Amino acid sequence: MATPKLGYLLKLPKFDHLEAKTIEEACSLLAKYKDKARVIAGGTDLLVSMKGREISPQYIINIKAIPNLDGINYSQKDGLVIGALTTLAEIESSPIIGERFPILSSAAHQTGSPHIQNIGTIGGNLCNAAPSADMAPSLIGLEAKAKIKGLTGERAVTVEQFFLGPGVSVLKAGEILTEIQVPNPPPHTRGVYLKLPARTAIDIAVVGVAVVVTLDTKGVNIADAKIVLGAVAATPIRARQAEDIIKGKALDDELIQKAAQAAADEAKPISDVRGSASYRKEMVKVLTNRALKQATTQEG
Ligand SMILES: Cc1cc2nc3c(=O)[nH]c(=O)nc-3n(C[C@H](O)[C@H](O)[C@H](O)COP(=O)(O)OP(=O)(O)OC[C@H]3O[C@@H](n4cnc5c(N)ncnc54)[C@H](O)[C@@H]3O)c2cc1C
Repeated sequence: MATPKLGYLLKLPKFDHLEAKTIEEACSLLAKYKDKARVIAGGTDLLVSMKGREISPQYIINIKAIPNLDGINYSQKDGLVIGALTTLAEIESSPIIGERFPILSSAAHQTGSPHIQNIGTIGGNLCNAAPSADMAPSLIGLEAKAKIKGLTGERAVTVEQFFLGPGVSVLKAGEILTEIQVPNPPPHTRGVYLKLPARTAIDIAVVGVAVVVTLDTKGVNIADAKIVLGAVAATPIRARQAEDIIKGKALDDELIQKAAQAAADEAKPISDVRGSASYRKEMVKVLTNRALKQATTQEG
């Protein structure tokens, strides 16, 4: 999300609103107008950036009328598929997500206010490519993929690879994100997403930490672990050294502290109005510690 500036309160700049009825039409318009065009989904990020005059696209390509770009589907074989236009509220309230991917319900619940959750989409959250995007760490922890369509075909990249830098994703001119694919995690997998918001609970993250751990069949040692940090680098990042510290071992307080310190060391935060770099590193340590404890004491 763009930082609200004085322009936040200004009127929108002039633009042409074009409604695409198919994916192909949306891609053609994007390919034709290139930098002059932007997709709009919920508009909760885009319109704020336009009011703040950070961007002034001449053409807004509305994709909301394209069929089958929203919705949540689950199968035992393929796992979870979430359409790009699915709102955060739909994710939060989905029974199948609550039952099988509760970390995603929790992340959606922690993204903005209920108003934002009713309008904002998962696709917009990822395509905006903010390092603080609240849906990203949990999706990366679950090894989710982003399906992208363009005029020449489709491709899929991991959500981790989707982010290239602040506000920059792998999407090329003429491409849109169509769905997020989340594989079924192995048995005995638990996940926790914790966020430290800037001021109130509905603010964007100063730090976000997702922990996804899989216990071995005896439920004792950590068979696999993903620790993903948001808002502390140019993109959401895996704390791989911290993950290596706990893999194959039974967690105790000492090991958790060691992993939490390693995660803080791997963070590369900047200082801004929301918090200093050193504060963010300290908070990575606190949240990683807390998330690992919560994940390993969860039922399941
Ligand atoms: C008051 C407020 C509070 C917020 N709080 C949070 C928060 O706590 N955490 C958080 O992570 N975010 C927060 N946000 C940011 C925003 O609400 C979310 O990122 C939301 O999910 C964006 O979805 P959207 O559908 O509104 O995106 P839009 O604004 O429609 O689009 C965002 C960007 O993605 C592009 N885009 C959208 N969909 C596609 C697609 N399918 N294919 C290609 N490009 C696409 C658009 O062109 C645009 O560049 C907040 C915003 C506001 C205004």
